[in-house]
Amino acid sequence: MDSAQSLPQFVKVSSPIGKNYRIINPPIVKKWNTASQDHFMQSLQRLQNLQSGKPVDRVLNFDIFMMRAAHHIGAPLSKYYLDYRVLCEANLAVLKEFDLDIVQAISDPYREAVDTGLEVEFPTDNLPLSKKPLIVEPNDLGNVRFPVQNFGARMTDRLEGIRAMREQVGDEVPVMGWVEGALAEAADLRGMTNIMRDLAKRPAWLKELLEKCVEVEIAFACAQIDAGAHMIGLGDAVASLISPHMYREFALPYEQRIFEAIKAKGGIPRLHICGNTTHLLKDMAQSGAQIVDIDSMVDMRQAAEALDGIIICGNLNPVSIFLQGSPDQVREGVFTNAAVGYARWISAGGCEIPDQTPAENLHAQSQALRDLANQLPSDIPIPDGGGD
Ligand SMILES: [Zn+2]
Repeated sequence: MDSAQSLPQFVKVSSPIGKNYRIINPPIVKKWNTASQDHFMQSLQRLQNLQSGKPVDRVLNFDIFMMRAAHHIGAPLSKYYLDYRVLCEANLAVLKEFDLDIVQAISDPYREAVDTGLEVEFPTDNLPLSKKPLIVEPNDLGNVRFPVQNFGARMTDRLEGIRAMREQVGDEVPVMGWVEGALAEAADLRGMTNIMRDLAKRPAWLKELLEKCVEVEIAFACAQIDAGAHMIGLGDAVASLISPHMYREFALPYEQRIFEAIKAKGGIPRLHICGNTTHLLKDMAQSGAQIVDIDSMVDMRQAAEALDGIIICGNLNPVSIFLQGSPDQVREGVFTNAAVGYARWISAGGCEIPDQTPAENLHAQSQALRDLANQLPSDIPIPDGGGD
């Protein structure tokens, strides 16, 4: 029982309605200090303890903020995407306001793509828009200069953002950088419809493109760690739309290479695939990610089984719970996730916290996590004779 890897993650118990899970090494063992506004434990320490199976004082909160953070400080979205000072200020503001355990330099999917030459419009206060692909015909690939050595303005701006964030939080709160997965990046450059066609019709050519993309993402991930990021998230949204067979051929090997590079530099790799990834869970477990995000349409219990030993992060419905739900529904959602009893769970929305999400719902999440810390572990019975 010395090493973290040998700790059982949960005990399986038979019940009339099927399998139940109870925490055997609960992530929460200390009381939250309600008399103090200060964090009882600092967020990075909390994460490191969770990673190594040591006690933490409460479940971490890794909600992904972008639009909601910009508008929290009254900044228009274009400023948030294009000026690292705004990105940094907005993320530090939501960190404090909503008791998060992460500061994040995730912004929009087009950092690498713009620096590769893609034309993207940034409306003053709306989402960025790519009107035409950079690689229209397969032959165009030879003319593209991929930013492996010299990053352009947008990638450099993210590095500045990470430096600024790290300067503010030091080693108290994990700073998260971000890259696109190679397949997601290929889709940014080529357009989604074309990529879907390439997957079927020109797999060898697509792999040439993915090879270029993966080199960019590895270089960018490493530069973000050098700039001060503790963790790198990798977004590979396209992956949820393809079969496990295709995922294993066109997404997973590239995710593995990027994560290898991140780990070699001492960073924490986090995998984020938006949408329903139920059919990919077993393969995602092979990606090398130490944290895997689970969207709201994925069953958390199933994810806990498939990703045993890996931290899972999720999966409150961003729309029906955070945006449109009540504080009571948020609270219930947090407690439902906790009841799965997976010892390596981080609380978060299944995807980005929507713009306009009421502050009271986000406060309800942090309050629920504090209350949970005061309830566990004594209120959750650990059954006899279970375990694996
Ligand atoms: Zn997502």
